[in-house]
Amino acid sequence: MAINKQHAIDPDKCTACTICITACPVTAATRKFRGPKMTGPALTRLRKLVSDDDPMLDYCSNCKTCDLVCPSGVPISTLNMMAKNEYYKTHPRKSKADDMLAHSEKMGKLITALPLGSTFANLGVSIGKAFNMMGAMGITKDAKMPSYASESFISKFKKIKQTSYPRKVVFFSGCYINYNQPEVGVDLVKVYQKNKIEVAIDENFVCCGSPMVSGGYIDDARVNAAKNTAILKAWVDKGYDIVTACTSCGLMLKQEYQELFDFAGMSEYAAHMYDSIEYLAKLNDEGSFNTDFTPINKKYIYHAPCHLKVQAIGRPSMELLPLIPGIKIEEADAGCCGISGSYGFKADKHEIAMKVGSKLFARIKDSGADLGVSECGTCRLQMENGSGVEAIHPLTVLRRAYGL
Ligand code: SF4
Ligand code: SF4
Repeated sequence: MAINKQHAIDPDKCTACTICITACPVTAATRKFRGPKMTGPALTRLRKLVSDDDPMLDYCSNCKTCDLVCPSGVPISTLNMMAKNEYYKTHPRKSKADDMLAHSEKMGKLITALPLGSTFANLGVSIGKAFNMMGAMGITKDAKMPSYASESFISKFKKIKQTSYPRKVVFFSGCYINYNQPEVGVDLVKVYQKNKIEVAIDENFVCCGSPMVSGGYIDDARVNAAKNTAILKAWVDKGYDIVTACTSCGLMLKQEYQELFDFAGMSEYAAHMYDSIEYLAKLNDEGSFNTDFTPINKKYIYHAPCHLKVQAIGRPSMELLPLIPGIKIEEADAGCCGISGSYGFKADKHEIAMKVGSKLFARIKDSGADLGVSECGTCRLQMENGSGVEAIHPLTVLRRAYGL
């Protein structure tokens, strides 16, 4: 059955119930943002009459908590991102941070193409912070920034020898796993092989466009969406399912492309898209998930990323990880971590992001957990930054439990 977009772009469906205001983590953290109802549906109506609007839009982090709670199905965050895109067509940006953070794939490509590129880039970030060059660009000096890996996931993938199985998936790794945390991609291949699944990749995929949309570069995201849609459709036509291990990539490919662009064929391929842990939970439901685990006697705390919650697929990690003998795992249930992709890396948003995440940081510290667990790479960074406790992907937990 085809998955149809969850939200039609219609601000007039808003009944002004104000539930979204009480749910918005940014509204709770700062009076600088007047909240989802006013910035989204209410001002979208006004924008039909006047072309100019206020830069308060910039405070929406695109976490999508408002979309999750809206009883009328108003695509509030998408209305905000569309308005932001229009706003920046005619207004200068405050800093270069938006451009740099929205186009992270360009940076990743450049760095991995250079000999010792990742070493110099990681060193450059440290030096840039020390001399406050990052600050001059509008990037905070107070957050732990993603570091670059010395070898990309795609390069590592080519060296993995897989056993061929009838069940096959194509893995959309996304920029963060490809350039920053390739080990998570390797974990996926190892765990999937243990479950008799063969993993393919496609080197023609480009950035899903999620950071571009959040930064107000929807026109750039449209170009990427057109390329990725054609590739995804071709794999699905060959009988493959598609998996992602980054919840923002997954949400973008499955739902936001339909809301923003709605190219032909999107709902058909979206029906074959899964989060990597959701896919394994599906195997578990079918009775074919491999539970040949060695015990892990550790305590973990799990944080569900906002972009997973809004996919309405439950908490597949909380279904599978408790199957590991010896493990103690509890859900943090402490709201948004605040980072929202790259929002918390911006100098003028970092304080808000840390305030948004404060409940989660306290929960992690109070839990006494050995490690944090989350599907989103930047959530993991923010968890580490705010609590001092290392955070890993659930695939990494599963790989360790398989003793691989
Ligand atoms: S996307 Fe998040 S930050 Fe933006 S209005 Fe909705 S809840 Fe608030
Ligand atoms: S939750 Fe939905 S219906 Fe209620 S105020 Fe917000 S946008 Fe309007």
